Amino acid sequence: MIQVKGNPGTERYPGHLIWEDCMYLERYALANLPRYTSYPPANRFDTGVDAGSYRGWLRGLDPAASLSLYVHVPFCRTLCWYCGCHTTVPNADDRIDRYVSLLRAEVDLIAAEIGEGRPVVNVHFGGGTPTILDPDSFLALVGRLRDRFEFQPGAEIAVEVDPRGLDEARIAGLAEAGVTRVSLGVQDLDPEVQRAINRIQPFGTVARAVTGLKKAGITAINADLMYGLPKQTEEHVAASARAVAMLGVDRVAVFGYAHVPWFKANQRAIDESVLPGPEARFGQAEAAAQVLDEKGYDAIGFDHFARPDDPLAVAAATGRLRRNFQGYVVEPADAIVGFGASSIGSLPQGYVQNEPHLKRWGERVTAGELPIARGIALDDEDRLRREVIERVLCDGAVDLARVADAAGQPVEVLAGALDRLGELQADGLVALHEWTIRCTGLGRRYMRNVAACFDPALDTMQGRHSRAV
Ligand code: SF4
Repeated sequence: MIQVKGNPGTERYPGHLIWEDCMYLERYALANLPRYTSYPPANRFDTGVDAGSYRGWLRGLDPAASLSLYVHVPFCRTLCWYCGCHTTVPNADDRIDRYVSLLRAEVDLIAAEIGEGRPVVNVHFGGGTPTILDPDSFLALVGRLRDRFEFQPGAEIAVEVDPRGLDEARIAGLAEAGVTRVSLGVQDLDPEVQRAINRIQPFGTVARAVTGLKKAGITAINADLMYGLPKQTEEHVAASARAVAMLGVDRVAVFGYAHVPWFKANQRAIDESVLPGPEARFGQAEAAAQVLDEKGYDAIGFDHFARPDDPLAVAAATGRLRRNFQGYVVEPADAIVGFGASSIGSLPQGYVQNEPHLKRWGERVTAGELPIARGIALDDEDRLRREVIERVLCDGAVDLARVADAAGQPVEVLAGALDRLGELQADGLVALHEWTIRCTGLGRRYMRNVAACFDPALDTMQGRHSRAV
């Protein structure tokens, strides 16, 4: 049964999304759906793609293809109980040092396959906690990347930052390495919520990080918030959103906590009896969105917010927003090359994922092997579905006939999706006109449900994804 509360939204225009009140629709909010940072999603990768496939794909890259480099650092000082990332707490710092030297070796391996001097437009350090590296290690790693690749003028170098360990030396190291953007892990600023997730991080710690980074010249700052955490309420989420807005961050991402203790053992420490239910989660997401709207941020896609003059907001307003493993992005490269255990790469031919097991990844790099564990090759229909899903999640609207024509595919391939969308149309989430689909204001909250209509494999995979809201 559909539960309805709140005010129905109004129709919006594509590209530049405006947040509106919308209704809690239980049947859609409870659906387990991919976040579609790739299509097909990473849990459909298999061992049919291996080091040999990747070598062939790398060698087939157009020499002019622009690259985005993703570097994964799978270490943290303590484990947050909600964490869903590939990370671990090292028992000694020499493990981190050894990992960095293996990363440098992996950079050499890739450069040997594709040749040195390939153009790089974007570098992203994720984790884990990339800022766990001491400044010298970080600078040596960036130096190796700069030696083997040709960083283009204006290339973005982005780093995920844990404000808790960000001392002056690390800030100086980031600035010296040419870092242009940081994402601060904030999640929630309430002390009781922080205790319930094992992440004690007072507001002053975040504020000091922002001040220090800006003083060092790193002025493009994102903040990551979460809803759906244990003991969290709408008031907590709204207060955290107000706090990061007050700090003047450019972008805010608001992610829903995915509780999967059977998959992530650290989440078993969370007291399930104090987790908010689905309707409370929905209210929390709305609370963050309303605060950020009031503070002058534009809503981007289904979980991002940006100041109107930020490149992400400008891209959304002009139909140039894109989506990949880093979430919403402005200018995607032609290929993403991953480094480090569990990192994912995206090439025109398909996706690859490195060995997630730290020891096995290291052994394969030491042996001079490309440490690929799995992946998936794309066919033309996959590419068409990927493009359609991306446009839905970026623009909230898509002209299927135009996209299919550009892909050289018959639009009828997507006819099955129209049947699935009929139900969403009846519930007021989408407007359909021939081959054009547009999310209504009400459907704004359920973009993942709309996108999922184009994913024919989803019915058999539902239990393996996070809640839509
Ligand atoms: S949430 Fe971030 S800081 Fe916390 S354990 Fe996970 S990767 Fe580390």
